[in-house]
Amino acid sequence: MTATPAWPPKSLPRLFLRSNLSEGAIVELDGGQANYLGNVMRLGQGAEVLLFDGQSGEWLARIVEPGKKRMTLAVECKTREPETVPDVWLAFAPVKRTQTDWLVEKATELGAARLLPVMTQRTIAERVKLERLQAIAIEAAEQCGRTRLPEIVEPLPIKHLLEHRNVARTLYFADESGGDWAPDAFTPGPCLILTGPEGGFTDDERAAIRSAPNAVAVSLGPRILRAETAALAALAVYMAVAGDWRLIGS
Ligand code: SAM
Repeated sequence: MTATPAWPPKSLPRLFLRSNLSEGAIVELDGGQANYLGNVMRLGQGAEVLLFDGQSGEWLARIVEPGKKRMTLAVECKTREPETVPDVWLAFAPVKRTQTDWLVEKATELGAARLLPVMTQRTIAERVKLERLQAIAIEAAEQCGRTRLPEIVEPLPIKHLLEHRNVARTLYFADESGGDWAPDAFTPGPCLILTGPEGGFTDDERAAIRSAPNAVAVSLGPRILRAETAALAALAVYMAVAGDWRLIGS
């Protein structure tokens, strides 16, 4: 029996547009996106492209006016509704730029709803450029099939995070000095996963986090993970035991 080919074909190029997409809409692509479709993907008149705007879902569009610098596409129909990712926020102490870029890319693929760079006493990081992290999240969302982008907030001091957080949102504190076994500790529901800098949290910070209301210290195993590894390991374990990985095939 021949398998029904997936529709839309997984191979179609996917682009994020900052414009409200709807059936019959005409959209202009310029610069990098036109170059990508025209020169890199060598697409011309009539070629199909998937578009998403981060709000309304994913749409199938067709190139009506090809071009290397500018292109016009006509939106034909909706292919997917907006995603609903688990309400998981990842608060991470930024590390070196390459590792922070990597962390944002992977956290987007893993389905984080919001990313919060947190400045701690031992955070050694160059200035966190939000536009750069947003561009990385867009590319990761285009590649992994997301229809919404994770919200990335301005870096904030750990003290501010602890004092202004909504305590109804469970704070899972990844603590290498010990905590509940993460796979057991994580439960479905709005949460904030917090991981520290390369040098770790200071004792005062650890005491303040551990005494925060609705905070749970979790262990990610017997080894000391690098900061970016810990952030993604915690997110992956959460998605597996309490997030949307459990839903596949259910
Ligand atoms: N201060 C530590 C040290 O040098 O001994 C290392 C900090 S570790 C590189 C960076 C962060 O990753 C920690 O603050 C913690 O949030 C997280 N982390 C690393 N390994 C972990 C583990 N086994 N369990 C829970 N969290 C861990």
